[in-house]
Amino acid sequence: MTVRSILNEKGHDVQTIPPDATLRQAVELLAEKRIGAIVVTDAERRVVGIISERDCVRVIGLDGPTRLDDTVSQVMTSKVVTADGNESVHQIMEQMTAGRFRHLPVVQGGKLIGLVSIGDVVKHRLAEMERESTAMREYIMST
Ligand code: AMP
Repeated sequence: MTVRSILNEKGHDVQTIPPDATLRQAVELLAEKRIGAIVVTDAERRVVGIISERDCVRVIGLDGPTRLDDTVSQVMTSKVVTADGNESVHQIMEQMTAGRFRHLPVVQGGKLIGLVSIGDVVKHRLAEMERESTAMREYIMST
């Protein structure tokens, strides 16, 4: 199973924000859309960063709400690990585990085309395991 097959099922919709937006705008978007991360993109839809709820909690928890006036670029992670559609679900699970993050922007031709979260990965892995065990059961019953 590939990243592309996950995106084909869940869609290519992904929330983005420009780097010069404020942290307040990012927090409002996270709350309004009930999501855990926003991809930071430039005018050409290239990925320039990612800001997750964890980044917001870290800076506001340490310094207080004055940080809400910061720009997104001051708080985001700018070294973003991305995936392409051909990668397997197994590969991206390993990347997320090794990097300790739960979101992976998907890029094609240098531009953002989707986002896969750890929730999507778990959902697809469970469905895959279910199919495997059904096939195994059917095989055993037929022998
Ligand atoms: P998350 O688990 O996605 O809430 O993110 C935990 C931390 O990793 C935050 O500091 C994020 O900015 C960062 N992060 C999230 N996704 C990625 C990614 N794909 N590449 C690099 N850093 C990331």
